[in-house]
Amino acid sequence: MTTDFQPPAATPSRLADHTTFGLGGPCDEWREAASTAAVAEVLRDWHDRHLPWHVLGGGSNVLAADEGVPGGVLHLLPGASPIELLPGGGLLCDAGTRLDEAVACGLDAGAMDTAWADLSGIPGTLGGAICGNAGAFGVQLGDFVEQVEVVRPDGRPETWPREALAYGYRTSLLQRMKAVVTRVWLRAPASRVDRPAAQARRAEILALRHEKHPALGPGLPGTAGSFFRNLPPATPGGRRQPAGALLDAVGAKSMREGGAYVFAHHANILMAGPGATAADVRDLAARLQAAVAARFGVRLVWEVRPWPAPAAQPPAP
Ligand SMILES: Cc1cc2nc3c(=O)[nH]c(=O)nc-3n(C[C@H](O)[C@H](O)[C@H](O)COP(=O)(O)OP(=O)(O)OC[C@H]3O[C@@H](n4cnc5c(N)ncnc54)[C@H](O)[C@@H]3O)c2cc1C
Repeated sequence: MTTDFQPPAATPSRLADHTTFGLGGPCDEWREAASTAAVAEVLRDWHDRHLPWHVLGGGSNVLAADEGVPGGVLHLLPGASPIELLPGGGLLCDAGTRLDEAVACGLDAGAMDTAWADLSGIPGTLGGAICGNAGAFGVQLGDFVEQVEVVRPDGRPETWPREALAYGYRTSLLQRMKAVVTRVWLRAPASRVDRPAAQARRAEILALRHEKHPALGPGLPGTAGSFFRNLPPATPGGRRQPAGALLDAVGAKSMREGGAYVFAHHANILMAGPGATAADVRDLAARLQAAVAARFGVRLVWEVRPWPAPAAQPPAP
């Protein structure tokens, strides 16, 4: 017998359903919020109950443990009007807005310049990208940030100027201090915007990413993009050395652990195939780190955020 009745979806709490690796066990409480007030309410509640918590955006830079994480996970969603064009140029976005949507909107409106197009196609939300200073092709999101609104763990909203975020390569203060980004003001370029050039650059970047990065989607192997940070430049002012080159040299592409393996087109991208566990990915990462350390005497540092965080994380070079 068929029926039109659909039971309500169970409250999702498996992180595997919300991370692009498709891995991760349960959390104790799953909450969603799409406004500063809603974020503040959740954090105040958890603060009063002394519940540890994590905040999740698009889940595209997280490796959550198979055992899950203790406490709450707050999932940031885009608000009702996620992107506002600011007078004189620039954008005001909810932190739950997809970064790529903000890139497309800024270019379509002629509010952002060609360098902004370089951030095209990076998965995830603005909040996650603010936290990790996401970037590509030598451009990073932090270069465009004017200020952010954050909610502190006790539920207090604050506005932080760009300088307070202590941006570095793929890092910010938010990786060391708990606060939830709720809104982001992005700076307009100083010079006139060449809209056709910016649109052409976006098309070029999207094509490049399509060619070089694994596709994401239901039924496809999971990934979180580049797993390790690139290494500091060999000479002051030089370019960072790609971790992928070192990984290639130690034969990373032929290594696997359980269901975890290295992407055939990019040695710094770890994949979770059918049956993979977060432990497989961790074991593979450890093996790759050991091989690179033995051959080159350098320690690769995770770019992907491990959940829960280890007790003490080594500082990023
Ligand atoms: C195929 C692929 C390609 C990728 N390419 C790139 C690339 O070119 N460049 C690049 O930099 N990254 C890349 N990534 C990694 C990832 O997309 C980025 O790091 C992205 O910015 C993460 O955003 P997110 O919303 O998914 O963050 P999440 O994975 O949800 O979270 C990442 C971290 O940010 C924190 N966080 C999330 N939201 C907030 C918030 N609102 N307030 C405070 N903290 C928050 C989380 O607690 C966590 O520590 C790629 C990933 C994939 C899967």
